[in-house]
Amino acid sequence: MSLQSEILRRRTFAIISHPDAGKTTLTEKLLLFGGAIHVAGAVKSNKIKKTATSDWMEIEKQRGISVATSVMGFEYRDYKINILDTPGHQDFAEDTYRTLTAVDSVIIVVDTAKGVEAQTRKLMEVCRMRNTPVMIFVNKMDREGKDAFDLLDELEAELGIAVRPLSWPINQGFSFKGVYNIYKENLQLFTPNKQSIGESVAFSDINSPELEKYVGEHNAVKLREDMELINGVYSEFDNEKYLAGQLAPVFFGSALNNFGVKELLDCFVEIAPSPRPIQSQEREVNPFEEAFSGFIFKIHANMDPNHRSCIAFVKICSGKFERNVNYKHIRHGKMMRFSSPTAFMAQKKETVDEAYAGDIVGLPDTGNFKIGDTLTGGENLHFKGIPSFSPEMFKYIENADPMKTKQLDKGINQLMDEGVAQLFTNQYNGRKIIGTVGQLQFEVIQYRLLHEYNAQCRWEPISLYKACWIESDDATELDNFKKRKAQYMAKDKEGRDVFLADSGYVLQMAQNDFKNIRFHFASEF
Ligand code: GDP
Repeated sequence: MSLQSEILRRRTFAIISHPDAGKTTLTEKLLLFGGAIHVAGAVKSNKIKKTATSDWMEIEKQRGISVATSVMGFEYRDYKINILDTPGHQDFAEDTYRTLTAVDSVIIVVDTAKGVEAQTRKLMEVCRMRNTPVMIFVNKMDREGKDAFDLLDELEAELGIAVRPLSWPINQGFSFKGVYNIYKENLQLFTPNKQSIGESVAFSDINSPELEKYVGEHNAVKLREDMELINGVYSEFDNEKYLAGQLAPVFFGSALNNFGVKELLDCFVEIAPSPRPIQSQEREVNPFEEAFSGFIFKIHANMDPNHRSCIAFVKICSGKFERNVNYKHIRHGKMMRFSSPTAFMAQKKETVDEAYAGDIVGLPDTGNFKIGDTLTGGENLHFKGIPSFSPEMFKYIENADPMKTKQLDKGINQLMDEGVAQLFTNQYNGRKIIGTVGQLQFEVIQYRLLHEYNAQCRWEPISLYKACWIESDDATELDNFKKRKAQYMAKDKEGRDVFLADSGYVLQMAQNDFKNIRFHFASEF
């Protein structure tokens, strides 16, 4: 197969949802269609449960699971599908944001009863920043939930994207009858408690009296009315708008019952984008270019201290990656080759000889890589767009064992390179501040410093509202600001200027007083 056709048949995406909406269940059903697994229950949820904060064995176990399920590749029809898993626990949201930089599209799962939830909203913001095409699966139609039209309005309003139903439910809950597949013009009938990958009934004309036979008179009338309303309110599905991230097709179903999942997948492979051009600092890189290029978006450390190796996950942006070929590590300016790159097919990690743009390969690593590093065939490229977001929680990190300063520094640096949390160094007193999305990350850092680096840390409280990256075209004003706010100025890991605002009010005042300074809440601007 030519390079071009290999790349065109690739679909690399992530499934995102608020915890419990059904992401794990849907993932599992999708894998079933690819023949990747044969029994239900085989996909381990990598959710780190709230209770796990006190149970470290549990966290370790779950981290182990999450490396196995980080990328799930499988073949379906003529397509090569790569699902990138994202951690469910909100304390690891930063990990999810980064994973979203490596996908070409996203499927959002929404619970029909709960509608749009906090985590969904936040993840959608990240998709919007990058114009990532999204498709929505409304799950749990076998349960009572919101009215489908109300839900569509809610999706539009809460997610800030236009929607277009491509399937439509016939009732829900106890009286759920099935869905009408608008995209393919056929009918899927639901049988409760039957894990059916049932055959569909072709139905291009819902005005045919046949419809009554299948769903009963009342439902038939209602479906016709609904369809009329849909066609009146929503314009024709526009694929270009979907690809531009402006329009989200919506499907209804029940992941648990494997209902409506095949319809979603069939439409997905047909309309979802193959790998798209990616912007580097130097130029736009087209996936079909012969030369290989890629970037590291995730690093997974081995929790076994006797076995200090990581897996660095590379998203291939262009061309073909080959085993044992020399590639350039741009930040180090040196050539490297990899004798045992792994790919993740059908739930197994295996050594691969080649992989194509869109694919993810895992490179065994002993500290050469950090998040955002670029690898190429030789050209100097730096891929953009792996943002850090202003953390939500902050603590001073202090050395609790003066004999182990070196170990502590090394541990902190490596954990930050891995993207576990963010480090800010206060320029006034030199103290180190760790910023996280949630409490759990502090616990993971403390635990890992001790077990992997033999270093002990202690947390001290600091009351901070936000860390903002600042920049200005007016050097004098910037200088002036830094002098005035000297006590609140810090540098991030890359040496960028960060203003630590201790309250919303202080931040507001600073924004008012220094009109020529731009305050950013993400490190990419
Ligand atoms: P995640 O947190 O988003 O990965 O959600 P899970 O896939 O773990 O699902 C959360 C719960 O919802 C589990 O108990 C599932 O069995 C259940 N669930 C998932 N899909 C459906 C569905 O279609 N109908 C019903 N009734 N329950 C579902």
